[in-house]
Amino acid sequence: MGRFHLQQKERRIRLVYFDNAATTQPCPEAVQAVTEALEHGWGNPSSLHSFGLAAQKRVDGARAELAAALGALPEEIVFTSCATESTSLALLGCARTYGRRKRKLVISGVEHPATAATAQRLEEDGFTVVRIAPENGMVSPARFAEAVDDETFLVSCMLVNNETGAQLPAAEIFAAVKRKNPTVVTHCDAVQGFLKQALRVKQLDADLISVSGHKVYAPKGVGALFVKKGIRLAPVLLGGGQERGLRSGTEAVPLIAGFGAAVKALRATVEERDAAVRGCNAYLRSRLAELDGVRIHSDETASPYILSIGVKNMKAEPLLHFLAQSKIYVSSGSACAKGKKSGVLEAFGINAAYLDSTIRVSFSHQNTRADCDALCDALTRAMQTLCGIRQTPHSNRKD
Ligand code: PLP
Repeated sequence: MGRFHLQQKERRIRLVYFDNAATTQPCPEAVQAVTEALEHGWGNPSSLHSFGLAAQKRVDGARAELAAALGALPEEIVFTSCATESTSLALLGCARTYGRRKRKLVISGVEHPATAATAQRLEEDGFTVVRIAPENGMVSPARFAEAVDDETFLVSCMLVNNETGAQLPAAEIFAAVKRKNPTVVTHCDAVQGFLKQALRVKQLDADLISVSGHKVYAPKGVGALFVKKGIRLAPVLLGGGQERGLRSGTEAVPLIAGFGAAVKALRATVEERDAAVRGCNAYLRSRLAELDGVRIHSDETASPYILSIGVKNMKAEPLLHFLAQSKIYVSSGSACAKGKKSGVLEAFGINAAYLDSTIRVSFSHQNTRADCDALCDALTRAMQTLCGIRQTPHSNRKD
């Protein structure tokens, strides 16, 4: 994919952006496609004249790119405003479709609020929600299968956890629950895995998959839901019947075009970016291991794109601001939680002493070893300045 000019310019003033799980900088291809669509594709795709057709062409092109990236059919892609909306459509749409006869859904205990809060709303409305907590850091397909019965209409499990990078065995979970009850609809929040790992709908075997544009170098304000052919789903937004009736509202053509362009650019580089990020992640792990008072929460099986770390005796927020003064940007836990404790780190069994002092470092393929060095140097300074911890040269971790 093309170079990120803005970030390159900013690099001269040593900007180190390690918050890519919160959002990514739109790539040049996306920026160009958005601009082009604003200028030349501004018609309403529902209009029958040439302006409408020009806009529809851009939406169709983006739909084809997403379908190709997932190994899906174009008609299985529904554009939404974000992954939160995709997930609402999945959960609320299924509840509406199947809820008269079946009243139970099963989710993992470490879901993003997009799933967790929607499930909670359904619980308040009288549905039964079973949450499967991780055991020894991992959720078990067998536990999901045990929880599923004839009353269950939906199982939802994310692919990659946004706080720790833990890779959940979603494919195994969906296979296990379908063996137990083939009528159950399966949903996967694939936001933190999409275009970071090879993701084919056939292998994942989910009926519904949520993805987001702004996590993959596209603009904010656009997401998509994969809806497997034959799956019945009631819409949440009613109106003009756009997106095969599943998501009424005039399509955000420029944002959708930008999403398509980013997906096209990224699709070809999944392995190359994975290798670059793995190298950077391994280097950072080795540097952090030299620092007293720093604990790495994400285990080696986690996605290389996310590294959760705890810094002894230090609150995450002041640490974050200290790092930002050096133009190093990370987040505390999950950016979506905005200061609210999500309970996900506890569910993963992270040492209680580190819960408030956890920061999330999230990579893009553009991060370098120099970025990792800058982060480690700033962490060293922060520990010394904010809580008086001095590093002994090449000391082994003692915490
Ligand atoms: N799911 C996961 C795992 C996420 O990390 C996020 C955003 O951080 C979302 C869902 C929500 O995505 P969006 O911002 O597109 O609504």
